[in-house]
Amino acid sequence: MTTLSGKKALVLGGSRGIGAAVVERLQADGADTRFTYAGSEAAAHALAEKTGAAAIRADSADRGQTIATVEAAGPLDILVINAGVGLLGDPLEHEPDAIDRMLDVNVRSPYHAIVTAARTMNRGGRIVVIGSVNGDRMPFAGGAGYAMTKSALQGMARGFARDFGAREITVNVVQPGPVDTDMNPAEGPMKDLMHSFMAIKRHAKPAEIAGMVAYLVGPEAAMVTGAMHTIDGGFGA
Ligand code: NDP
Repeated sequence: MTTLSGKKALVLGGSRGIGAAVVERLQADGADTRFTYAGSEAAAHALAEKTGAAAIRADSADRGQTIATVEAAGPLDILVINAGVGLLGDPLEHEPDAIDRMLDVNVRSPYHAIVTAARTMNRGGRIVVIGSVNGDRMPFAGGAGYAMTKSALQGMARGFARDFGAREITVNVVQPGPVDTDMNPAEGPMKDLMHSFMAIKRHAKPAEIAGMVAYLVGPEAAMVTGAMHTIDGGFGA
């Protein structure tokens, strides 16, 4: 028997990068896992085939799709919200619609997903949102919008931890620093700048982030809630 056997899990945004590593880890730990994707159909189907997890097309920018997907998947034991957009650059150049879409995916969708899941979530359930160390520290220009969305998750998690604690449902934020994914490739143009802020000067691997998620959704973390868990090679130190 593995640590999560008998648990039903949903990962929002699981087709690539950190989300895909979380799907792999939850399945390996025995959870019955389903995950959403928006654009990466081939990657989603390949991951489903490899892991046995179920792939569901649902756009986290669309509130109705988020709520319907979480409702249909419930009652859940584990909800991991990973889907995120990383829009960086000169705020004077950004289209207002692009900023609002980032807010939809990074903030509004997690809020509505958590409320929807909590309506039916089993006692002792686990909710984890993937935030960012940029919720605490934004050490370069061009990240105001992104940092705003990741800071918002902190207040959300603290509040929901209070709302659902009586049912022993935990709500936590995992805050990675640079992680080698399509969003932030280890050999990308921001590599040297990012590493200059870090004590351990490399991008993390997605599986390292999934390891922290696995702890938070597992039986040993029953008393961990309303907290931010930074895994950033010292970016925020
Ligand atoms: P990627 O861009 O590599 O992957 C993003 C994942 O989220 C994909 O599976 C994508 O699915 C899904 N996704 C994006 N938008 C939507 C949407 N509208 N609806 C459904 N799914 C969606 O990103 P990462 O793996 O790097 O990032 C994952 C999370 O980690 C994000 O929240 C990000 O902000 C956070 N993070 C990342 C860091 C990094 O350095 N990489 C650092 C700190 C935090 P699809 O392709 O199918 O649309």
